[in-house]
Amino acid sequence: MSENIKSRYQTIIKRINIACKKAGRNSSEITLVAVSKTKPDADVRELMDAGHLHYGENRAKALEDRMESIKNENVQWHFIGVLQTNKIKYMAHRVNWIQSVHKMKALEEIEKRASAENREISVLIQVNISEEDQKSGCEPEELEPLLKYAQNLKYAKVKGLMGMATLTDDPELVRPEFRKLRVLRNEHRHLESGSVSLQELSMGMTNDLEVAIDEGATMVRVGTAIFGERNY
Ligand SMILES: *Cc1c(COP(=O)(O)O)cnc(C)c1O
Repeated sequence: MSENIKSRYQTIIKRINIACKKAGRNSSEITLVAVSKTKPDADVRELMDAGHLHYGENRAKALEDRMESIKNENVQWHFIGVLQTNKIKYMAHRVNWIQSVHKMKALEEIEKRASAENREISVLIQVNISEEDQKSGCEPEELEPLLKYAQNLKYAKVKGLMGMATLTDDPELVRPEFRKLRVLRNEHRHLESGSVSLQELSMGMTNDLEVAIDEGATMVRVGTAIFGERNY
C-alpha cells in the first residue's frame, strides 16, 4: 500500500515534468496539491514522509479533522470544496489556502476570522468554467466586483483563480474551459492592487493535468492518481 502511494506520487511528478517540458514551462512553477478526501491519515503521512507539503480537502469537517490530527508546521492546507460561509470559523486558525471563494460574504467572513487569528489566509476565487448544470463558482461578470472588494482587505489575500472543468474522459474536450480561466485572469490583471494579485491558476486534476499545465495552470489538484480510487 505505502509503496503504492510513493510510486504513484513519483509518477505524478514525472507527468508534471513532462507536461511542463512540452509546454515550455519550468516545473518549479507548478504546485501539486495532494487531495486526500476520505483516505486515512496514514496515507497522508506516507506522502509527508516523501517530503510533500501541499494537501487539499473538499469538506470542511475533513479538513478540520486532518489539521487537528496531523500537526506539521511545514504543511500548507488547502480547502478546495464547496465553501459554506458558516464553516470558515472552523478552519481559519490553520488553513493556508481557501481555493473556492465565490461571493463577497465569504471574503468578508475570511477577513473577519483571519483578522481575529492575526494571520493571513490566501484565497483563490472560483469561477464557473464548466458546461455542467451543477455549477460551482462565480460567473465571469461577478469577478470584477469581487476583486475590487478584495483589494482593500488586510488578512484575506487573493492570489488568483480556481476552476473545475467538466468531467469527461477526453481531456482535450476541456481545453477551452481551462483557456477561459486563463483569459479571464489576464483580462482582470489591471485589478491587481492592494490584497489582490492574480498569479495563481488552480486547474487540472488526475485526468486533465497535462492540458491544464499547457493552458497555464500553476496549481494542480490531484487525488485519485496519488491516493487511489475513491467511492465518491
Ligand atoms: C476530488 C477533487 C480533486 C481531485 O480529483 P482527482 O480526479 O481525484 O484527481 C480536485 N479538485 C477538487 C475540487 C476535488 O473535489
